[in-house]
Amino acid sequence: MLLENKTAIVTGGSRGIGRSICVALAKEGANVVTCYASGADAANETVKMCEEYGVKAIAIKTDVANGAEVADMVAKVKDEFGSIDILVNNAGITKDNLMLKMTEEDFDAVIDTNLKGAFLFTKNVSKIMIKQRAGKIINISSVVGVRGNAGQANYCASKAGLIGMTKSVAKELASRGITCNAVAPGFIETDMTAKLSETVVDEMLKTIPMKTLGKTEDIANLVTFLASEGARYITGQVICVDGGMAM
Ligand code: NDP
Repeated sequence: MLLENKTAIVTGGSRGIGRSICVALAKEGANVVTCYASGADAANETVKMCEEYGVKAIAIKTDVANGAEVADMVAKVKDEFGSIDILVNNAGITKDNLMLKMTEEDFDAVIDTNLKGAFLFTKNVSKIMIKQRAGKIINISSVVGVRGNAGQANYCASKAGLIGMTKSVAKELASRGITCNAVAPGFIETDMTAKLSETVVDEMLKTIPMKTLGKTEDIANLVTFLASEGARYITGQVICVDGGMAM
C-alpha cells in the first residue's frame, strides 16, 4: 500500500470528487479526515466507505472559509492522529452568472470558499508539515482556471488564484520537504455538473477530444499518486485531467 500510516485531510469529502479522493487514499492505507458544509449524512457515508479499508476516518463539520473553524479542525486532527501528511484542498462551490449580472455577494462567496479556504488550510497544516519536514499539498483547481469560461468569472478567478497559490507555496516550502501541486479537472460527472442543461453538456462534449465526461475516480487516481513517494520530485505543477480539453 502506498500510504500506510499516513494521515490525510481532504476538504469537501461528503460528495463527488472529494468523496472519491477520500476512498482512494483510504484504499492505499491512509487515515482520512474530511469536512463538509452541511451534508452530515453524506459525509458519514464517506467515512463508512473509508473504514471498509481498515483505516481510521472521521468527518468534521467545518466551513473552509472560516479561519477559526479551520484552525480548530486542524488542531483536532493533529491531537488525534499525531501527524498530518497529506492535505487535499478540494471543497468548492459555483455561483455562475455573466459578469454584468454577478452580485458582489456571489463573487465573494466563491472566492472565500474556493481560494481563501485553501489558504486557511494550507497555512494551518503547513506549520505542522514544516515541523515534520515532510508533506504533500494538493489543490483541486480546474481547467477553467487555466482557460477562463464565460459566466464563471468568480469561479475561474478562484481556480486561477489556486494555481498562483500552488506555485508560491511550492517555492516557499520545497526546502522543507513539502510538495504542492494542483490538479485541474475538466468536466467531471458530479452534483456540480449535474446542474447544467443538456445543451450546455452537449456543447462541452464538443470541446473534449475524448468525447466523454470524466469520472471522480480519474481525479482521485492522480491525487493518490501525487500524495505518494512516487511523486517526491514533482512540485509546483498544474496537471489537467480532462480528456484533452485544455490542450
Ligand atoms: P460537489 O458540489 O459535488 O461537492 C462539493 C463539496 O464541497 C461537498 O462535499 C461540499 O459539502 C463541500 N463544500 C462546499 N462548500 C464548503 C464549505 N464552505 N466548507 C466545507 N465544505 C464545503 O463538487 P465536485 O465534487 O464536483 O467538485 C470538487 C472540487 O473539484 C471543487 O473544488 C470543484 O471546483 C472542482 N472541480 C470540479 C469539476 C467538475 O466537473 N465537477 C471540474 C473542475 C473542478 P456539502 O456536501 O456539505 O455541501
